[in-house]
Amino acid sequence: MIHLNSNIFQVISKDYFKNLFIKIKQNYTFKTSAMKYNFLFNHILFWENNELNEDLLNTILLKPFNEMIKKYPELNNYILTCQLVFYSSSISNLNFKNMSNDEKKTIIISYVSKYNNKWIEPIMNQQSYYKSKKAFSYFISTINIELMKLNDYISSFINYMYIDSDMRHELLINLESSVCPYCNRQYITPYDDNGKLKTTADLDHFYPKSIFTLFSLSLYNFVPACQICNSRFKLAQGYKILYPYDQGFSENAKFNLKINTTSDINSLIGDNSNFELDIELFNNGNYNEEIKNNIKLFHLKELYDIHKDYVRELLYKKYVYANTYKEQLVTLFKELNLDEHEINLFLYGNTLQIEDLGKKPLSKLAYDILND
Ligand SMILES: [Zn+2]
Repeated sequence: MIHLNSNIFQVISKDYFKNLFIKIKQNYTFKTSAMKYNFLFNHILFWENNELNEDLLNTILLKPFNEMIKKYPELNNYILTCQLVFYSSSISNLNFKNMSNDEKKTIIISYVSKYNNKWIEPIMNQQSYYKSKKAFSYFISTINIELMKLNDYISSFINYMYIDSDMRHELLINLESSVCPYCNRQYITPYDDNGKLKTTADLDHFYPKSIFTLFSLSLYNFVPACQICNSRFKLAQGYKILYPYDQGFSENAKFNLKINTTSDINSLIGDNSNFELDIELFNNGNYNEEIKNNIKLFHLKELYDIHKDYVRELLYKKYVYANTYKEQLVTLFKELNLDEHEINLFLYGNTLQIEDLGKKPLSKLAYDILND
């Protein structure tokens, strides 16, 4: 729901790489048999001038995915192949019962075409994967077998086991993310455990290491989250949700007050709870599928229903401040030299700045309700 600042890794990048590169180097072996895999990075991406390719590993570990692909376009074949496998449950779980063969074919072909790449093309040409759900499943499993061969090899030198508990805590603390980006309800702040800073956040792979093994240690694959959201996310793997380093709900989805049959004028000024709280999607916005999945997977509508009291409080304050009280306050604030955001913080407990949404729980809700 909240867009995570993508500069957050800059402080730790250097040490992080130094630490892990030693471990990767120790474990890496140039495996001749791996050269025979059907999926392989233009054969010797990892190996350059008789050395482990440090720049490639640096890119994989520290750079955002779009920069990785720009620098090493071959990596895009890997990403697309992994995504094809990872999201394939969205097709296998579809109910094809009342569809014509043409409809089924169109759905499968349009899914596969999103992830089409040079690695899977030979398999695509060999199989009529679009003929039925069964054919599609067979196609995915053929690809998965090839992918797993490569991933097995990768996991022998790029492995999440290299990150121990201390390092994980340190990483999370340095991320300086104080509220879960998926629900914007739970604090994920550090605490002092006998002189050692620990964190209440879970660190999870946005792209699971079982499929996207190459990114097991990639900083941009780590999303700090509250334990509830993290466990929901894990249970529903294969759901396409917003990638927090690229997108938040921002202007594409907003909390919104919806009038129902019991509503009256007082419902709009926080005098009663006779309204519904909804999340409205804007059609011109992209990412509608991902946003809907975020709402469903993290039970956002149900969870936020309990915050109607908070919405009432905001509406009431907004109404009161808009009238008599505000003038007196403005005079007071002038004397105190506060800017607009500090005034908001004083009035609503929230700066109402888009870049601050990840700092306090329910700030996206407050932002949407008060800006409406
Ligand atoms: Zn959460």
